[in-house]
Amino acid sequence: MSINETSRAYGAQKSSIREIAAYAGARKAEIGAENVFDFSLGNPSVPAPDAVRESIERSLALPAAQLHGYTPANGLPAAREAVAASLTRRFGDGTASAGDLYLTCGAAASLSITFHAVVNPGDEVIVIAPYFPEYRVWIETSGATCVEVLADPATFQVDVAAVAAAITPRTKAVVINSPNNPVGSVYSRDNLAALAGALHEAEKGLGTTIYLVADEPYREITYGAEVPWVPSVYDRTIVCYSYSKSLSLPGERIGWVLVPPTNPDHDDLILAIAGAGRKLGFVCAPALFQRVLMDCVDCPSDVEAYAKNRRALTEGLSALGYEFIEPEGAFYLWVKALEPDAEKFFERAKALELLPVPSDSFGCPGWVRVGYCVSYETIVNSMPAWKKLAASYR
Ligand code: PLP
Repeated sequence: MSINETSRAYGAQKSSIREIAAYAGARKAEIGAENVFDFSLGNPSVPAPDAVRESIERSLALPAAQLHGYTPANGLPAAREAVAASLTRRFGDGTASAGDLYLTCGAAASLSITFHAVVNPGDEVIVIAPYFPEYRVWIETSGATCVEVLADPATFQVDVAAVAAAITPRTKAVVINSPNNPVGSVYSRDNLAALAGALHEAEKGLGTTIYLVADEPYREITYGAEVPWVPSVYDRTIVCYSYSKSLSLPGERIGWVLVPPTNPDHDDLILAIAGAGRKLGFVCAPALFQRVLMDCVDCPSDVEAYAKNRRALTEGLSALGYEFIEPEGAFYLWVKALEPDAEKFFERAKALELLPVPSDSFGCPGWVRVGYCVSYETIVNSMPAWKKLAASYR
């Protein structure tokens, strides 16, 4: 065949999350939405803040060329200035200026651009398993190998010794995601400092450069935990962000890449990020939503609905004897499967109309991810099914 086989293979590969979500949709049509407990997707259930709608309405009054025209490849200066000012207010002077930012179509584009900007063919990029499955696709298509390192199985913090052991002369980057999808963990400052120490030591020992890619779409969704600003812990950090979760705008595709001014390779990286955007055709993020950022970067996300769901789910499952990692952020609960094979556990859950995602999809055996970005009623009404599922193992 004359078409690109790798691309065809990615197209043909099944995404378990999408498959379960499609099954849930079909099942809801069959037996009624209220009888299916779909915990599969990470689609925010909290509506976008009113300020987003108000901002869009104001923009609609602009002349068409301004409203719908091309922006600079890296985004409107005023939008980048708004983001930089917000980051500076929150994390201190010198955190960012407009020139350090490249606006993107969400975290997917931020990460693809970043990998294309830093890796050369044959390089390795370390991910902390369990991890968001698309990382592998973006890493491999940038020409690198995706190297999985399991998180500490007790705490799901980064297992720093395991990362250190996995570093080779070809390691170009380590990706971290905190607050974490799928676990809901938040990496502590001590954990990040230990990771930074290990990366510096490896750089020194090997004479190489290792970037820390901080993927942070869930930064604003926390339940009291501190989410340390990673560039203040490790100098060679690149931050990838998205408003998909924080402003509940996943379909609008808006986010950014930040090369902090403290990154020693700042100027080259800024050029490489621009070049990667150009290479991939990821230029000029949606103009209307760039304008939304000018008004809404500091809109507080209403995480109360997620907090309420989190309480109901953790209290309910705990009373039924399930083990899970207490979530500190994002909107996922990482629940231990009641048998070693998470797929088999999932099949039993599915027979009871419970649809979490088995952990094998995230590169880790023995757990399921329960996305609680659903209605409160879904959580409450699912409890009898969770009870039946637990009882079936006694
Ligand atoms: N990174 C993580 C950890 C995610 O969970 C997601 C989406 O669910 C993404 C990146 C991609 O986000 P976006 O919708 O902004 O492309």
